[in-house]
Amino acid sequence: MSETEKRDFIRQIIHDDLESGKHSEIVTRFPPEPNGYLHIGHVMSICLNFGVAAETGGRTFLRLDDTNPGKESKEYVDAIKRDVHWLGFDWQDRLTHASDYFGQLYESACRLIEMGGAYVDSLSADEIREHRGTLTEPGRNSPYRDRSVEENLDLFRRMRAGEFGDGEHVLRARIDMSSPNMNMRDPALYRIRHIPHQNAGDEWCIYPMYDFAHGLSDAYEHITHSLCTHSLCTLEFEDHRPLYDWFLDQLKPEYRPRQIEFSRLNLAYAVTSKRKLNTLVDEGIVSGWDDPRMPTIAGMRRRGYPVAALREFVTRAGVTKKDKLIEMGVLENCIRETLGEQAERRMAVLRPLKVVLTNYPENTVEMMEAMNHPGRPELGTREMPFSRELWIEQDDFMEDAPRKFFRLKPGGEVRLRFGYIIRCDEVVRNTAGDVVELRCSYDPDTRSGTASSDRKVKGTIHWVSCEHAIDARVRLYDRLFNEANPNAVDDIHGALNPESLEIVDGKLEPALAELSAGQAVQFERLGYFCADEKEDSAAARVINRIVTLRDSWAKLEKQAMQQQNQVV
Ligand code: ATP
Ligand code: MG
Repeated sequence: MSETEKRDFIRQIIHDDLESGKHSEIVTRFPPEPNGYLHIGHVMSICLNFGVAAETGGRTFLRLDDTNPGKESKEYVDAIKRDVHWLGFDWQDRLTHASDYFGQLYESACRLIEMGGAYVDSLSADEIREHRGTLTEPGRNSPYRDRSVEENLDLFRRMRAGEFGDGEHVLRARIDMSSPNMNMRDPALYRIRHIPHQNAGDEWCIYPMYDFAHGLSDAYEHITHSLCTHSLCTLEFEDHRPLYDWFLDQLKPEYRPRQIEFSRLNLAYAVTSKRKLNTLVDEGIVSGWDDPRMPTIAGMRRRGYPVAALREFVTRAGVTKKDKLIEMGVLENCIRETLGEQAERRMAVLRPLKVVLTNYPENTVEMMEAMNHPGRPELGTREMPFSRELWIEQDDFMEDAPRKFFRLKPGGEVRLRFGYIIRCDEVVRNTAGDVVELRCSYDPDTRSGTASSDRKVKGTIHWVSCEHAIDARVRLYDRLFNEANPNAVDDIHGALNPESLEIVDGKLEPALAELSAGQAVQFERLGYFCADEKEDSAAARVINRIVTLRDSWAKLEKQAMQQQNQVV
């Protein structure tokens, strides 16, 4: 780490623990629940957990936190593994599951019962909720709280043996029903669910709760630093750490991990709640978890976001204790910077308007030399065919143009990039009065790159030769929500941006026939684009816009953000 780079508070703790000799090796874990696809918030957690271990020569577990079989699936497990690998991290032989420990967890629960730290409650879920109290009122003890150890052990064994139906009994910790921290009011440890488990099969019909399984799994794996997210950490009634520590204090596992909380990363105009992401998928609001508008890793990969940009983004967002909402512009700028450096330039016309060069010979094609990257001559050049009929962008022509409009207007001149200067002589309309073609003349003395080409005009526009153009369906993505913080709205339907996807029929320069899936290019003057990894084929090109060239939302977003951060 460079000296100028400030350590975040977690890296500082880790640094101190290594220096003091408290630990000789750092062991972390990334513990996703396989109940959905990973999203941009998880990218932060992955980079943090794998990052701090890698930086110090430590190890990281990928632990599938599969304690809730009703919502989990193999599809999600596979997606999680694919996404972590894609981000460039490797757990090697350290892929584990909370379900690997179901036997040990069951034993621990029995021990807790023997110690008087847990009891079987037979209230219904509704009654348990009523007994729980509120933030201002203490809870009440369940009438079953004082069952004998023998009775509890017997009931718990029979819960496991499948003698009871879902919800008939629940195992709870015996802590304190009047604790100001709601999590300490006799939380549930085990519930009955007669459903098979995607990893453990049908061996179990009782499943441990997250809070119980989590800390003990950390202990079994000898995790030195268990990095967890909290939201609204300062509110003691929401704090999970006292419970985490309570289980460790009671059960005294051979190894004691330490939990450290950091704040969630929230991205403006995006949801990072799995429940809300699920709604978007289930209701068909998007095409799937990997819809390029989704803030999921799968969606961002398909959209064409480079890994380097995502990693840079979470570095810039930083690790903090305070809740934060990061502007979409920060992410997009990371993408622009990465692609600005990497991506080759090409030309494409998204909303084509035909230009006929009346003084250009018919059946003639000239090959124009075009630079692949203005800042990196080592990336070479390519040839672009130039001919009598060309496509230009509709909005590069304006009939009643203001004086400062330096693109094409009647009687005006413009340079075609890597081509000639042309003048607009005549506007052709259809019967409805729309402009359908421009008849122009070119100046043969102005071919780019030749000695006599230095006649200057103010505007330069891009173009594609009609005869040689490749047709493409181009998907112009914008943010999925109009609300700066859609996580905070109850009903996401009203917060959707109806213009999050526009599809146009574009024209590509012939060199783009070579564009491979996942490869990003800059369409000059338009933005960064890539071929869709699922739907694109040589016969029918489907191109996604990754990001525009300029941050057109910056101003708007700044205002929204100021309001938002005052609220948070
Ligand atoms: P749920 O809200 O359903 O629990 P989750 O978003 O917490 O979902 P998990 O699969 O439990 O999803 O998360 C795995 C890990 O990723 C956890 O350690 C969690 O702390 C971390 N994580 C989840 N969301 C974010 C986020 N927005 N920012 C940073 N880390 C996150
Ligand atoms: Mg979680």
